[in-house]
Amino acid sequence: QASREWKGDNTIVEIAPGVRFGGDEVPIVSGPCSVESEEQILTSARLVRAAGGTALRGGAFKPRSSPYAFQGLGKQGLELLALARRETGLAIVTEAMDERGADLVAEYADCIQIGARNMQNYSLLRYVGTLGKPVMLKRGMAATINDLLLSAEYVLAEGNPNVILCERGVRTFDSATRNLFDLTAIPVVHKLSHLPIVADPSHGTGLRDKVTPMARAAVAAGADGILVEMHPQPDKALSDGAQSLYPEQFAELVLQLRTIAQAI
Ligand code: PEP
Ligand code: MN
Repeated sequence: QASREWKGDNTIVEIAPGVRFGGDEVPIVSGPCSVESEEQILTSARLVRAAGGTALRGGAFKPRSSPYAFQGLGKQGLELLALARRETGLAIVTEAMDERGADLVAEYADCIQIGARNMQNYSLLRYVGTLGKPVMLKRGMAATINDLLLSAEYVLAEGNPNVILCERGVRTFDSATRNLFDLTAIPVVHKLSHLPIVADPSHGTGLRDKVTPMARAAVAAGADGILVEMHPQPDKALSDGAQSLYPEQFAELVLQLRTIAQAI
């Protein structure tokens, strides 16, 4: 069901009124890696809104490599995201790590993110296929593009057609960047599938100064949306500070991406 043979026309996934992936616009999804406090997420939301971003993304449930690292605010984080939506009107994207969390995320968010580490959690994929909410499915760090499409298939097979794919880089031998951001995934997915694909150069590179050039390249390559991390004070972020844009960098990036999107 994810293939072009199954469906020739591009799928447009609308996560909130007017916020469409796969159509003519290129939505820009941004926010901090983690929801940290009311002030932090409201400030972030206002910055995303003021810069012309499309949706707010912040994690309430965080898949951290270490169990001792900040794990997210959980339900309280979701409540803060809902507050930010009320204040700014931005659509909300946030990650669910398990079935229990997915029920909660579905209550509060407009789109459920499935993280790279859970791309092959097939029971979770099936479960989010039943919740009636759009799903943003990130590519696993050791997954092929075909693996990603097969994972999308699990969601689609449960009757949920609203899947947005996300390229976020894969692991390789080179430690110059956190991951190897696979720009080719965009045209490859467009050839193989009707589903929209967004690019996440933040996790794709792990380095703030690499995010802007790769975001520009992704839009030029036809990405159906961009996901970048931005923090009001990246140096104080509880997660992924090194790859989070400063607010001014984000505002400039939005303008550049709009120009590129119009030119192609
Ligand atoms: C995230 O989006 O903050 C995240 C943990 O990403 P990924 O699942 O791609 O590592
Ligand atoms: Mn992150």
